[in-house]
Amino acid sequence: KNYSKEELLKHAEELGVEFIHLQFTDIMGVMKNVSITIEELGKALDNEIMFDGSSIDGFVRIEESDMYLRPDLSTFTVFPWSGQVKEARLVCDVYRPDGTPFDGCPRNALKKVLKEAEEMGYIMNVGPECEFFLFNTNEKGEPTLETHDNAGYFDLAPIDLGGNARIDMVATLKQMGFNIEASHHEVAQGQHEIDFQYADALKTADNIMTFKMAVRIIAQRHGLHATFMPKPKFGINGSGMHVNMSLATLEGKNAFYDENDPMKLSETAYYYLAGVLKHAKSFAAITNPTINSYKRLVPGYEAPVLIAWSASNRSPLIRIPAKRGNSTRVELRNPDPSANPYLALAAVLKAGLDGIKNKLTPPPAVNSNVYHMSEEEMKEKGIVGLPGNLYEAVQELEKDEVVKEALGKHISNKFVDAALYEWKEYSKYVTQWELDRYLRKF
Ligand code: ADP
Ligand code: MG
Ligand code: MG
Ligand code: MG
Ligand code: MG
Repeated sequence: KNYSKEELLKHAEELGVEFIHLQFTDIMGVMKNVSITIEELGKALDNEIMFDGSSIDGFVRIEESDMYLRPDLSTFTVFPWSGQVKEARLVCDVYRPDGTPFDGCPRNALKKVLKEAEEMGYIMNVGPECEFFLFNTNEKGEPTLETHDNAGYFDLAPIDLGGNARIDMVATLKQMGFNIEASHHEVAQGQHEIDFQYADALKTADNIMTFKMAVRIIAQRHGLHATFMPKPKFGINGSGMHVNMSLATLEGKNAFYDENDPMKLSETAYYYLAGVLKHAKSFAAITNPTINSYKRLVPGYEAPVLIAWSASNRSPLIRIPAKRGNSTRVELRNPDPSANPYLALAAVLKAGLDGIKNKLTPPPAVNSNVYHMSEEEMKEKGIVGLPGNLYEAVQELEKDEVVKEALGKHISNKFVDAALYEWKEYSKYVTQWELDRYLRKF
């Protein structure tokens, strides 16, 4: 709801809200918050709440550390899990003391690309499919890798013991204003998916952050640990976050639908698709930002490995689901839930817009299972793979001016530094795999 300042103050008071969490997201996709009491809400709504940006990962240098939070009033949400003391939140943009948007704020970065799309006549709609694992906790409350169930895809209780937790999650999310379309057990033991209805990209990015927070909190209340880590266990499916997206015209019509095309896709849809395929190698660092992300992007577990598209098969990077009319959409299958949703959507949209601006043509669709495609066949069809690890992905990102522009200089520099540091740390580490391979052999 779009409240005025006065309406929101009144509303919060009537609800008996005592604490307000002013939330924002750092470059690495971690939610941060500054909490205030109801007495300070007026001040917050006048954009007068300041915080020390230097304490936040990848935000600023020490000498320019004062930052201001500008709450987005439409994001006011009461936490259904708050007890006697009622808590609510407001999602904020980060501003500089001189009143300009801070270019290290991922939400500002997304807004900038959304504005560009709007100037071209488009609104981006996104529906994500967030998968996650529920693991048991030990006596100390620490997460284990044990699951509490033996269920598989779409199985029902009583085998799906996480089902209770999931029902509670769905109920909580509904109270927070989510329209839940589906929720089900996923392929792997202990793995779940909850789908909520698509919305414009900014709202969806906010929703993804809220979703992850709520799922973690409710899991904890059931004595479980929810993780959005992309591949917690070797040998079974990892967790993805398929991004279903479409462009709408400013009048709200689906711009990807054209009933006269053999596939009923518009020219805009093909251009967009081509742009996304073209830049996929370089936005992978953003949509798959962890070392662990690349352990999910391997053949055989429903995750994509090759940069191709299909209308029927679920193994390539992009699938065009069968639904048409207002549901005409492109499903991008590589993103995982460790991604910063603001940056991921900014990068992917920018790629699509590049396709539209330059009227790019997508390669022919591939309608076979690409996991079984030989090297020769790949070469023949000009199909390349996604980056094999975070290092390769960062190399690709650094070469791509279009994707870097979506992030802005500040964020892309900080992001690249952080990812390379992560890679260096990881490269030094001696893993169990190496011990298993070499300890006896040499
Ligand atoms: P799958 O068939 O891949 O399992 P789901 O049914 O789980 O797909 O999820 C589909 C998602 O796509 C939902 O979030 C839904 O709201 C979203 N969606 C539907 N229509 C559109 C559209 N026009 N633009 C963007 N997203 C859409
Ligand atoms: Mg799904
Ligand atoms: Mg589904
Ligand atoms: Mg799924
Ligand atoms: Mg899907």
